[in-house]
Amino acid sequence: MNDRNKPVTLKIILVGNSGVGKSSFMNRFVNHRFTNMYRTTIGTDFLSKTVTMDGDTVNLQIWDTAGTERFQSLGTPLYRGAHSCLLVFDVTSRDSFSALEEWRKEFLIQGEPQDPDHFPFIVLGNKTDLSDREVSGAKAQQWCSKIGAQYFEGSAKADLDVEKPFMTAARSGIQQYKKHTL
Ligand code: GDP
Repeated sequence: MNDRNKPVTLKIILVGNSGVGKSSFMNRFVNHRFTNMYRTTIGTDFLSKTVTMDGDTVNLQIWDTAGTERFQSLGTPLYRGAHSCLLVFDVTSRDSFSALEEWRKEFLIQGEPQDPDHFPFIVLGNKTDLSDREVSGAKAQQWCSKIGAQYFEGSAKADLDVEKPFMTAARSGIQQYKKHTL
């Protein structure tokens, strides 16, 4: 079972309000592209990327979820089996940051992770290229310390600090995988 050559598939979920840049961030990480075309996410989408990490070959299956309250209430099983979750907000929108607590709760209820108290959440503030910031890094960091999440910020548009949040999600995801699958 413990075959290091066998690729591990990790499910990483992106949640957060519509428009915060989930698809853009994921697209930047996987395809190294950015488009300004606004696309409201109405269903779900995933992109795959294979990375090598600490000697393991890992296939990241990154899911972009619908950011609408309507979809949120449907109780989709999409969150099930996730190995880590990125809570995404827009640093120029206080509302998108405040919504993260609800997104986190929703994820814990719908996703039913095996060890909810230690589930790896990663918080990501996007759009740091913009100057009309409403959420400071210190404020985001403060909330992250409270919930035990790691905090990152960056910009999908300017291609700033895109790798780190995903690699951190992958690294904590693999720990979940090893703890609950092997
Ligand atoms: P989603 O609904 O969360 O998937 O958000 P999208 O990825 O569709 O992005 C919503 C809008 O924000 C689009 O118009 C993007 O072009 C824009 N956007 C995404 N990331 C950034 C960023 O880092 N900086 C800026 N200025 N705009 C961004």
